[in-house]
Amino acid sequence: MDGLRALPGVDRLLSGPAGRALADRHGRQAATDALRAALERARDAVRAGASVPDADALCADAGTRLDAATLPAQRPVLNLTGTVLHTNLGRALLAEAAIAAATQAMRAPVALEYDLATGRRGERDAAVARLICDLTGAEAATVVNNNAAAVLLALNTLAEGREGIVSRGELVEIGGAFRIPDIMARAGARLVEVGTTNRTHARDYRAAIGPATALVMKVHPSNYRIEGFTAAVPGDALAALARDAGVPMLHDLGSGTLVDMTRWGLPGEPTVARAVAEGADLVTFSGDKLLGGPQAGFVVGCADLIARIDRNPLKRALRLDKIRLAALEATLRLYRDPDRLAERLPTLRLLTRPRDEIAAQAARLVAPVAAMLPVYRVAVIDCASQIGSGALPVETLPSAGLALTGDGGDAPDRLAALLRALPLPVIGRIRDGALVLDLRCLAEDGDLLGALTRL
Ligand SMILES: *Cc1c(COP(=O)(O)O)cnc(C)c1O
Repeated sequence: MDGLRALPGVDRLLSGPAGRALADRHGRQAATDALRAALERARDAVRAGASVPDADALCADAGTRLDAATLPAQRPVLNLTGTVLHTNLGRALLAEAAIAAATQAMRAPVALEYDLATGRRGERDAAVARLICDLTGAEAATVVNNNAAAVLLALNTLAEGREGIVSRGELVEIGGAFRIPDIMARAGARLVEVGTTNRTHARDYRAAIGPATALVMKVHPSNYRIEGFTAAVPGDALAALARDAGVPMLHDLGSGTLVDMTRWGLPGEPTVARAVAEGADLVTFSGDKLLGGPQAGFVVGCADLIARIDRNPLKRALRLDKIRLAALEATLRLYRDPDRLAERLPTLRLLTRPRDEIAAQAARLVAPVAAMLPVYRVAVIDCASQIGSGALPVETLPSAGLALTGDGGDAPDRLAALLRALPLPVIGRIRDGALVLDLRCLAEDGDLLGALTRL
């Protein structure tokens, strides 16, 4: 076919201005491979009857694909799902102070395990442990990769080869395959279930405690509620019961929080300080849920138990790197000034955004967004945001957003796919036949409008 012969070769493409620009931008090897692939596609198209593309068109095709291939997999997205701590979108956004501290730790050597006063080896977790003890009233603390690791490490240290007692109402599964029975088994402990799904009494725990008992565990029902005819043993009563029996009590708070959220009009979530004051010997919680820091897991509590945990070889396998430790330390420092926390900690700032402010934003955005999506209908709606990440599963926060609808039952799915494919992907949620964009987490109007201009 004549058309095929009219196609330029790779070398000619690479020596032209567009080809040289491609090689400058992506490297000679990648540009060569991409041009070869573009020529292959052009050959198929010409065989199928298309006209012969010129050099610029071939280079443009290669360039588009190279650009797409070099987009980072972890690229920023606009979280308009209405879930503030969205596990699949990376949970907490870090405070500026934490970002600065992490960046500095990446760029320069830091005194990670080095005591600047003596010039001797120092403790990696010492600064963060001191801060978290101050903030929670705990005697000692240690920090690991995430809360799942904190629970695993605590159980393995205290209960390997022995029994851990948990209420049947608290055998939690949270997302990502974290299940209390499985973690217990992996920690080498035997799970002893007590009570029933809806009711567990102090006498159930007492009857189960025996010579093989290593601990009594309480787990925060992070993502569900048992309602109706229910009974559970509160933290303080369970701690007292464990103390009487001479066994430690482990309290997994899941999210936990360092401050009383009701101070900002938010639903109450148990604070770590309260769990410590109730008498739990060990309390575990996450760094990137309500606390608003990087992914991390804390174990706080009695000094002798924390010392045993720190000696467990698993601790070494689960420890934190300098980047996250730096971010965590900076995040915890913000808690020393609770009055300014809502300004400085993005998680709290987003959770406390007033509904009226979000509604005003929706009213500003409805017309320009509608103009950018001519085949769809756009309306302002009231909606309910979720906190997310297993904190306060039932409570929601009044919010506002935009509901996008179109013709055909698959319109919301099509629109969701279109917005996901943007250079700055916009992630909403489908509800009642509409794609809903909850604006709680939209910092600037321009972020959404800028993203949509690329439609
Ligand atoms: C979230 C949660 C965990 C796991 O925490 P990660 O930091 O995600 O590992 C463990 N237990 C409970 C009760 C939780 O809610």
